[in-house]
Amino acid sequence: MATAIITGASQGIGACIARRLAKDGFDVAINHYPSDGDKEKALAVAEECRAFGVKAECYAADVSKFDQCEAMVKQVKEDFGTIDALVNNAGITKDKLLARMTEDEYDVVIAVNQKSVFNMTKFVTSVMMKQKHGRIVNVASVAGLYGNPGQMNYSATKAAIIGMTKTTAKEFGKKNITCNAVAPGFIHTPMTDVLSDEIKAKMLDAVALKRYGEPEEIASVVSFLVSDNASYVTGQVIEISGGLAM
Ligand code: NAP
Repeated sequence: MATAIITGASQGIGACIARRLAKDGFDVAINHYPSDGDKEKALAVAEECRAFGVKAECYAADVSKFDQCEAMVKQVKEDFGTIDALVNNAGITKDKLLARMTEDEYDVVIAVNQKSVFNMTKFVTSVMMKQKHGRIVNVASVAGLYGNPGQMNYSATKAAIIGMTKTTAKEFGKKNITCNAVAPGFIHTPMTDVLSDEIKAKMLDAVALKRYGEPEEIASVVSFLVSDNASYVTGQVIEISGGLAM
């Protein structure tokens, strides 16, 4: 049985990806931020995954921390035997116009959204190289492709993730490890629920399909990218934005 590890999977897009990969037949390692609230939500996601007849376990780790990622990957390898797919999904926002954004608000978003991809990719590729097989999917954003006012920190991380995706694809291609990114647009999750109605309406104006995306519509593309159907796809960025830009 193949194993997938998904970061930030206690809710939103990450939880949906975990459920989808479980439905596809993957055993799933569900990472969550180390808090009681996140643990409770992650345990519920694991239960839903097990309903598909696969193994599902939860792992508390702050993915911005190098040593916590190392320990988690070691534990997942011990528990499952292999790590076939990694989905770097964990992310946060600290939106403010640059004039008001503090250094801390910049640094924490870089650590969680970007450094985490370095941490997890470093430890997981070491396992995948020995297997001579692996699939990595990084969750970027349209903000990394086009920029977005109020997101100097966030858009920097998402643009960086695209560069990291292509570098990973080039470094590990010869080991049969693929790495691709998805760049979601406006997706219905707790991250976007907090936006004002005015901002939501303005955003939808630019979307060809005139609606928000659903987490399942991100999970289905991730499902393709980690499958054998995508065996010759690497270093690509797939925008899933309902036609935000063309
Ligand atoms: P979400 O509902 O806020 O989920 C993000 C998850 O990541 C949460 O479970 C969160 O836990 C977890 N997380 C945060 N910091 C972490 C850390 N240091 N270590 C481990 N886990 C951590 O957001 P989402 O909308 O599902 O977003 C998922 C990904 O999609 C993110 O990378 C986001 O940037 C990207 N994305 C989302 C949209 C959108 O419209 N929703 C658009 C483009 C890209 P806590 O709840 O404890 O913080």
